[in-house]
Amino acid sequence: MKTVSLMFHDAVKDGDFDESGFPGAGADLYKLDLDQLDSHFRTVSGARPDGSSNILDLIGDRPEKTNVAPPLFMTFDDGGVSAVIYIAGMLEKYGWTGHFFITTDYIGKPRFVSESQVRELHERGHVVGSHSASHPERMSKCSPEEMHDEWCGSISRLSEILGFSVKVASVPGGFYSRKVAAAAATCGIEALFTSEPVMNCYHVDGCLVLGRYTVNNGMEPSISSSLAAGKMTGGKLRQHMLWNIKKAAKTAGGGFYDSIREKILKK
Ligand SMILES: [Zn+2]
Repeated sequence: MKTVSLMFHDAVKDGDFDESGFPGAGADLYKLDLDQLDSHFRTVSGARPDGSSNILDLIGDRPEKTNVAPPLFMTFDDGGVSAVIYIAGMLEKYGWTGHFFITTDYIGKPRFVSESQVRELHERGHVVGSHSASHPERMSKCSPEEMHDEWCGSISRLSEILGFSVKVASVPGGFYSRKVAAAAATCGIEALFTSEPVMNCYHVDGCLVLGRYTVNNGMEPSISSSLAAGKMTGGKLRQHMLWNIKKAAKTAGGGFYDSIREKILKK
């Protein structure tokens, strides 16, 4: 099965990056100004007049291959307060369902959503999922016990807040491994979004694993619409990613670009 998932983080007003989500230059690369985010939404809506999908409609049933466009999932990581104050309303304007992945240790802290805002996202028709409890630096390097605590701890916190079992999650920092998915499956997670830029999905111990395409600050809206339409694959995608990372590395500095470049070329 193929799906297209776009991965966003926070949205900020007038370049105020400290308004929402995690602080620092690394996190700022993924924060979009409100106008920028709306430009992406506008071009994506042009490319996908059929709208966005809800992951909960997909879990459990395994649709046969069809000729229609792959389901489009709009996803937002970290649980910054911009999810509620800006992004939910912008999605609703297009009739889309957002998937908000919350770092549960940060619930109620400055710049992050509160418990009542988690409930509000659900009540407004969006999907709430886990983005781990503490956002470990490298999830794939955690011990099995740590992985278990990150997934089960965050899922039970969200389930308690919402009053039903939360079944979806996204991997923090993009550090995915099969073990990360297997640990998620033992905590009742039925759909896990990674940061692998792929459309093909697969199951690990009954948990559906879905790739995602990152939309970062400065990315052309025409790229996100090509991605959403499933038109950017293979060499074209690699070329875009290299260019994109090069641009981001100029801001981040250091040997960042070389290591990422190597990773992309290996794929
Ligand atoms: Zn994150």
